[in-house]
Amino acid sequence: MSLLKKLRESVASLVDPDRKERTATQARGLRKLFFSKREGFDLDQALSELRVSEKDANAVIQVAYDQILRRVWHDGAMDKGEKRALQAIAKAFGLSEAEARHLNYQSGLTVFEETLGMAIADGIIDQHEMQRLQLVAASLDTNVPTLVQRYYATEGERFLRSLFLSAIEDGKLGEQEWDQIVHTLHALGFTSDSFLTAMKANAQTFVEHVLADAKSDGKITEGEETTLTWLLEVLRLDEGIKRYVQDQVKELKLLDEISRGRLPIIPTPPCLLDAGEVAHFHGPAFFSQLKTYKSGPQIRTFRGEATITDQRLLFSSPEKSCQLTHPSIIGIVRGESAVEIRSTGRASGYFVFPSNHRLGAAIYDAALRKAKQTLLESFPGAPSRSIPREVRQRVWQRYGGRCAECGATSYLEFDHIVPFAKGGSSTDSNVQLLCRTCNLKKSDLI
Ligand SMILES: [Zn+2]
Repeated sequence: MSLLKKLRESVASLVDPDRKERTATQARGLRKLFFSKREGFDLDQALSELRVSEKDANAVIQVAYDQILRRVWHDGAMDKGEKRALQAIAKAFGLSEAEARHLNYQSGLTVFEETLGMAIADGIIDQHEMQRLQLVAASLDTNVPTLVQRYYATEGERFLRSLFLSAIEDGKLGEQEWDQIVHTLHALGFTSDSFLTAMKANAQTFVEHVLADAKSDGKITEGEETTLTWLLEVLRLDEGIKRYVQDQVKELKLLDEISRGRLPIIPTPPCLLDAGEVAHFHGPAFFSQLKTYKSGPQIRTFRGEATITDQRLLFSSPEKSCQLTHPSIIGIVRGESAVEIRSTGRASGYFVFPSNHRLGAAIYDAALRKAKQTLLESFPGAPSRSIPREVRQRVWQRYGGRCAECGATSYLEFDHIVPFAKGGSSTDSNVQLLCRTCNLKKSDLI
């Protein structure tokens, strides 16, 4: 099982490959200069000699220091002499004590993770592996159980995610892998309870990440759902979180049904429908219209209610009411919770459905395509509003799994900063992480 290896690779691939190579080469140069000059080494001079840009300087220094660290760890330990030498190098490289300590610790953790991964692979810890683990722990001035606990506390989310991804990749639950992990930890003198406690802090972040991914492509597969449910079980998460996940999964399934044309039918809304007309949605809506006045174009927004039926979209507000029959629509661009509509009539404009987030836009889109009998057709050449997985992964890292506006960690969604319906792209610079509340506030402003 190469679980931990897979995990490291996926993180490494997130880094811009060009920059990585350039930085590594310059770091090698920096290292060579240091060892050839020793006491006569001057950081600024070395950096300019190697033509390191100001922007890259920090990264180059860190990579160079890291390369040295890797050599030090080559034998699986860091002794006193090596520690002293590293202190001198850190100083020459202009690293603060805290930075150096952090890098030392991280590199030790990597060695620890490798050794732990080998131990987990067969579920048995032999004497040699145990010695290696103890050696790493001692080099970091700690012991094995503490290091295991710290490892899962800081890397827990990454770890759970890799377990989840590998489970859905091969279609098998990670039960066997999980058993081996638990078994290994027992052998290390770690109780299941303390392990679960360490993991708990990360479990919710992990769950949010899986859900945000699923929301961004509008579906959750059976395998994803089963694996997620299983993980929530083994992690013994609180009922509140389980219920939250169930709600979210239910909503995702509903969205999936809608996209397939199976629309919900709601009791008669408070507006008059024709005989035989079926209502699919009723809720608050904003309608923005571009009007051309003598003074120039102006956008007017009305706050009212919308009803979506199998035949039309009805909008009513104190200042303005209108209806758009499905056949009169000649173009639609769907955003996350909004649609931009062009019709043959006068009511072209931009609709936002803030309640039942995402459902309104999804229902309208499906009702329209159903009425026009284009539901099964795709739109060739149309840009995709789905956000590529690498972009999602980078954006998630960038925001550290938190809402860009308020820092919330629940109900997270990937959001197009410039709405897709308004031409915004699905690239890193135009995608952010927002919680549902902030996403709705944003729709309000549009
Ligand atoms: Zn927020």
